[in-house]
Amino acid sequence: MDNGTDPTNLVSIPSLAYRIKDAIRAVMGPGTVVLSEPILMGNEWLYIKECLDTCCVASAGRFVEKFEADLVQFTGSKHAIAVVNATAGLHVSLRLVGVTSNDEVLVPAMTFVATANAVSYCGAIPHFVDIEPVTLGIDAVALRDYLYENTEQRSRQCINRRTGRRIKALVPMHTFGHPSNLDLLLSVAHDFNLELVEDAAESIGSFYGEQHTGTFGKFGVLSFNGNKSITTGGGGAILTSDAKLAGKARHLVSTAKVPHEWEYRHDEIGYNYRMPNLNAALGVAQLEQLPQILAAKGCLFEKYEREFSLISEVNLLKEPPGAKSNYWLQTLVLSPDQRHERDQILQITNKSGLMTRPAWVPLYRLNPYEASPRMDLSQTDYWYDLLINIPSSTSFDKH
Ligand SMILES: *Cc1c(COP(=O)(O)O)cnc(C)c1O
Repeated sequence: MDNGTDPTNLVSIPSLAYRIKDAIRAVMGPGTVVLSEPILMGNEWLYIKECLDTCCVASAGRFVEKFEADLVQFTGSKHAIAVVNATAGLHVSLRLVGVTSNDEVLVPAMTFVATANAVSYCGAIPHFVDIEPVTLGIDAVALRDYLYENTEQRSRQCINRRTGRRIKALVPMHTFGHPSNLDLLLSVAHDFNLELVEDAAESIGSFYGEQHTGTFGKFGVLSFNGNKSITTGGGGAILTSDAKLAGKARHLVSTAKVPHEWEYRHDEIGYNYRMPNLNAALGVAQLEQLPQILAAKGCLFEKYEREFSLISEVNLLKEPPGAKSNYWLQTLVLSPDQRHERDQILQITNKSGLMTRPAWVPLYRLNPYEASPRMDLSQTDYWYDLLINIPSSTSFDKH
């Protein structure tokens, strides 16, 4: 049967996969539909042309500073440092909160691999924690219990009793743009002497209460990769409210070069992580359109909500109460008894030109992280089977 009908039903109802495919089609229209592509309808050409006309494509030019100032304005962060990508931004942020070799860092088991990789770049070890269903972010309540049972405080440091290693930091991630429960996470970080660094790669334009995500921890890191809500081609930004740390971050991402008229002197091992002017030019143009993009993402959610309200076996993931999500990726949540349909849904939608994706394979199952310490991850495993990201691109004319 390739029309998806069940021959044993007298009134044949198309299988769930076909109904989902039709619902996505009804919203997105014909043709190939990707998961998330950028909207480039503003001053991108103009600003890139300025870079080319003035020969300022790399470190010289006005756009990096302008982009950083615009980010400060939009997020309310005191400082923003533009970098080559969010992974690099996380690496530097973790280093600057004092994560060093052989430390452990708490990260959600359900996140993009970059969160854990940035920990590894510091020579540290990701320690995986479980998620909760409302935000799909770290379950702060379960984490608190786990830390009470498994750690002890020695001279104001959180020591993992099992491994003897120091747990230095906590890295929440705002899944698909939905803000994690930052109040609870901040209190866990405070009570256990952990530094909080937010992986806000997916959450530009998302607010917890009235405050922009990425501005709660000592550092927060945004991504402007091509598939994110706004893009610089590749790129990221480090946010911090601490002037001293901002200065250190700026120094470290610019090869730790001591400012001087002509001399090349570097006072520590730095990184070449600074965002080029060309990318920042894109970023300035993109940021100008962000309010419209966010409005379009909200509209898209409402359209999907109308279509999927007719399909009782699935729900759409909604922004958590008290928070404003950017709805970066729209997410279907299958009812538990439909978990075995997930792969068929993925197959049928992708085959018909609608790009859909499951959530990330939980990181503790990946080769490089099989031996990493972890708490009970049953929520992560449970939700992994039920989540499907559906096409989430917006354009101003269509929605
Ligand atoms: C995209 C993403 C990153 C990495 O961003 P890059 O800019 O591509 O390095 C990190 N963490 C999460 C959760 C992401 O979604």
